[in-house]
Amino acid sequence: MENFNELNLSAPILKAITEMGFEKPSEIQAAALPVLLGEPTDFIGLAATGTGKTAAFSIPLLERLDVEIKSVQTLVLCPTRELAIQVSEQIELIGRFLKIGGVRALPVYGGSSFGDQIGGLKRGAQVVVGTPGRVVDHLKRGTLSLENVKTVVLDEADEMISMGFKEDLEFILAAIPEGQSKTWL
Ligand code: AMP
Repeated sequence: MENFNELNLSAPILKAITEMGFEKPSEIQAAALPVLLGEPTDFIGLAATGTGKTAAFSIPLLERLDVEIKSVQTLVLCPTRELAIQVSEQIELIGRFLKIGGVRALPVYGGSSFGDQIGGLKRGAQVVVGTPGRVVDHLKRGTLSLENVKTVVLDEADEMISMGFKEDLEFILAAIPEGQSKTWL
């Protein structure tokens, strides 16, 4: 695939990625985007860091959001706080023209105050990007609802499993109403 224009992206997303200097889809983007932009489906993609995998899932998850609704519609789980911050920043950059003030992608990770994160969740975020342990803590405290989640992204799922997050992931996935969401690994 030579050009992002072939993908029928919405104008605000195309404008954002053009301003970010993305000229043509990377290999993982050319493989994943046509599938993830189509009918809702589960998906497994394999790509190393630095290959554009973040945008490969961020573009379609943004295209699926109802930006007028402030509830959490997408949950991205990452193994580390650094990755959670990086991914949330990229989602906000790609989504910044979708709505006045932009789409909100809130990073939620351990080692940072609950108060700030709860404030962010109360103000409303369409996307939460979290590390598994902290997402479990918010679910147990009742400060995060996954009632409206339609897309779950497990970024570096293999890494999360080898770090011992399997039980946390199962707990989190069980908090999403059955049959309502698609999972992208
Ligand atoms: P990632 O593999 O997601 O960590 O992305 C690595 C870097 O490549 C990030 O800085 C992205 O902003 C950038 N990037 C992602 N997709 C493209 C693209 N199609 N063209 C140019 N740069 C890109």
